[in-house]
Amino acid sequence: MGTYAIAVLAGDGIGPEVTRQGIRVLSAVASRYGHTFKTTEALVGVAAIEAEGDAISDATMELCQHSDAILFGAVGGAARYEGPNSRIQPEQALFRLRKELALYANLRPIRPLNALLNASTIKAEVLQGTDLLVVRELTGGIYYGKPSEIRETPQGVEAIDTLIYTETEIERIIRTAFELARDRRRKVTSVDKANVLSSSRLWRRTAERVAAEYPDFTFDQLLVDACAMHLIRRPSSFDVIVTENMFGDILTDEASMLAGSMGMLPSASLGTRRTEHGVFGLYEPIHGSAPDIAGQHKANPIASILSMALLLRFSLGLKQEADAVEAAVNRIVEAGYRTEDLREAGKEVISTEEMGRLIAEAIA
Ligand code: NAD
Repeated sequence: MGTYAIAVLAGDGIGPEVTRQGIRVLSAVASRYGHTFKTTEALVGVAAIEAEGDAISDATMELCQHSDAILFGAVGGAARYEGPNSRIQPEQALFRLRKELALYANLRPIRPLNALLNASTIKAEVLQGTDLLVVRELTGGIYYGKPSEIRETPQGVEAIDTLIYTETEIERIIRTAFELARDRRRKVTSVDKANVLSSSRLWRRTAERVAAEYPDFTFDQLLVDACAMHLIRRPSSFDVIVTENMFGDILTDEASMLAGSMGMLPSASLGTRRTEHGVFGLYEPIHGSAPDIAGQHKANPIASILSMALLLRFSLGLKQEADAVEAAVNRIVEAGYRTEDLREAGKEVISTEEMGRLIAEAIA
């Protein structure tokens, strides 16, 4: 029994719809195990821009800083804030959270459920046995490097982005990957573009140095283009993949197709701060605000529910409870229930709310 503080930033589009189901499942965990989860909601994204004038307010940042964990929905989806000339963009909320809370390690576990092997565009026999974890560096690299601008020069207009990594940043994320692999199959694959990029050459050198400290682990290195190919050719051969920010962004969207739908995949972004119970982190589905289906009760809430399971495991130290949530999801999918994104002949298609209710009941 314990008391835990969770900041809930549901955001825009389907964000609030799926997050509500994550919270419903959390209530079921509270009843079954006798915990008290103190959840505090705040605005983020378009909702915050319109009500508070910023994608995330200072007060909301403070709330997050004083919580054990954050459950995040999704932001964006309003055309009026999407253009390159928009002064405030909803995604700035995520960048601020990641940077100011030092959420440097993004974890995306991908384990296609047996009952959904046919939902993927990849052949079931290729997917069989896939259970991998992508560890993406989240606060460095080309998304944060300066200068980053479009500028006039005497020769015409040019654009520049800057890719910079320090040895310390690389070492920290490689070490995180090895520590996570310790409780898995102890295999780490580091991904870079060392045949072209200086930052990747430093990445490779650092990865090799850290790997030498883990002699009983299997370690290999792949160029990112080869990794993109092997991910769909032999996904079950991977255990932990560790890579830099932009490569991780692209590879994880590719890997999401292994699980059949974006609506199935959770993520955790872990920081350096330790809480009373574990590591502080932000948990969110990998999908966005899906404006095309918002308000239609079609969104799959499983990514949010599984994000809640990761929150229980990493930030609250509640492993048994996390396992119970994952087992409940498995049971309901095995029983043949599907949301629209996983429509399959002979299976019952249910709404976002019904899926959340069934999973919560399976826990209680
Ligand atoms: P998206 O992930 O929102 O949607 C892509 C496709 O997947 C859509 O067809 C959508 O209907 C479907 N989909 C996504 N989640 C689903 C779910 N849970 N259940 C069923 N179907 C689901 O990506 P997008 O359309 O490129 O982006 C929409 C908005 O979301 C944009 O403004 C983008 O910037 C933003 N976005 C936000 C985040 C975030 O908040 N972390 C991440 C990605 C995109």
